[in-house]
Amino acid sequence: MIPVLIPSLPETDAIVPYLRRIDEAHIYSNYGPLTKAFTDRLCRLIGAQSGDGPVHAALTSNGTTAIELALRYRSAGRPGRYCVMPSWTFIASAHAAANVGLTPYFTDVDPGSLALTPEIAARALRANPGDVAAVVVVSPCGAPIEIEAWEAFEAEYGVPVIFDAAAAGLNLRQVGAQPLCISLHATKALGIGEGGAIITADAAMAAAITGMTGFGFAAGSRVSEMRGGNYRISEYAAAVGLAVLDGLDARIARLREVSLAYVAGFEAIGVPMQAGFGRDWLTMTANAIFDAGAVAEVTAAFDRSGIQWRRWYGGGCHTHPTFATCPHDGLAATRGVAETTIGIPFFPSLAPEQIAEVCGCAGQVLSSR
Ligand SMILES: *Cc1c(COP(=O)(O)O)cnc(C)c1O
Repeated sequence: MIPVLIPSLPETDAIVPYLRRIDEAHIYSNYGPLTKAFTDRLCRLIGAQSGDGPVHAALTSNGTTAIELALRYRSAGRPGRYCVMPSWTFIASAHAAANVGLTPYFTDVDPGSLALTPEIAARALRANPGDVAAVVVVSPCGAPIEIEAWEAFEAEYGVPVIFDAAAAGLNLRQVGAQPLCISLHATKALGIGEGGAIITADAAMAAAITGMTGFGFAAGSRVSEMRGGNYRISEYAAAVGLAVLDGLDARIARLREVSLAYVAGFEAIGVPMQAGFGRDWLTMTANAIFDAGAVAEVTAAFDRSGIQWRRWYGGGCHTHPTFATCPHDGLAATRGVAETTIGIPFFPSLAPEQIAEVCGCAGQVLSSR
């Protein structure tokens, strides 16, 4: 069997030096020294990815709560019931909106980029005049986000935009004021187990949201000035995070190697992968896009061959009972995107023979049709 994903985090020995620091400091949470060091290194890493300009971060307990707090901060005091977001996303995006009292309004995605576009979002605003509190733009499985287009969108329509960039931690090419929410879950490229971060060029926003992660206390005070809760990470999580960053270069090199081998393998059988995957950006999920007429046969062949596969975003959020009554824009392209975008086995230790097996299995089905 070839599993669809094998998460891998630093091994114990790489974490131990950081654990000893915790033993010495007797600080276990509440923005301790390891959390500060991890935050600084994360900002420097993303600053280096995104060129110059300041990068600030608020760490959160996970990616879902990062989205939740960014939405709470940016939609506070705004009119409107709805949070516009693509249906084709991981269900966490919808829960985050619902957790701050908004109802998701599900939109379609562009079938080429698999992402929400400013045109689709503008159509959603026209369909719900005055009733949209915020827009969540999702990075599909980690693909880079066109930040400038969304800055122009927010300037034109006056509706706050936040980015669910949960899987895009290695692909933040630009950081503006609009918050980029990333996940540090074990299954993401920057995984530390559980954790999240809100990345922004807006220092005041990062400071305020950090306050929201600790009961809304302003820095250095015990007076609650904002709605929030306990959304912090512990020093133990930060210890793992520091060990992850120590090993990141090797991880990136490995991900690139495996990704490019896949791109070549699928190119040889004429099957596109998600646009730019491997060549332009790196993530932890590999999607191949099969013809609608062939996808059932290919996945059946995967099943027979013990090749695990997954539709990472299922049929879209609107197909889940919890969100089935939410309004949507008709989702004309979503069904096709959900049907044909297939997550194939992908992880850093994937061997060339396994890649050959996956591509060979799909290729055999396609050539016999
Ligand atoms: C993983 C993911 C999340 C949730 O992140 P957690 O850290 O698991 O809470 C949200 N949105 C998308 C698109 C994701 O892939």
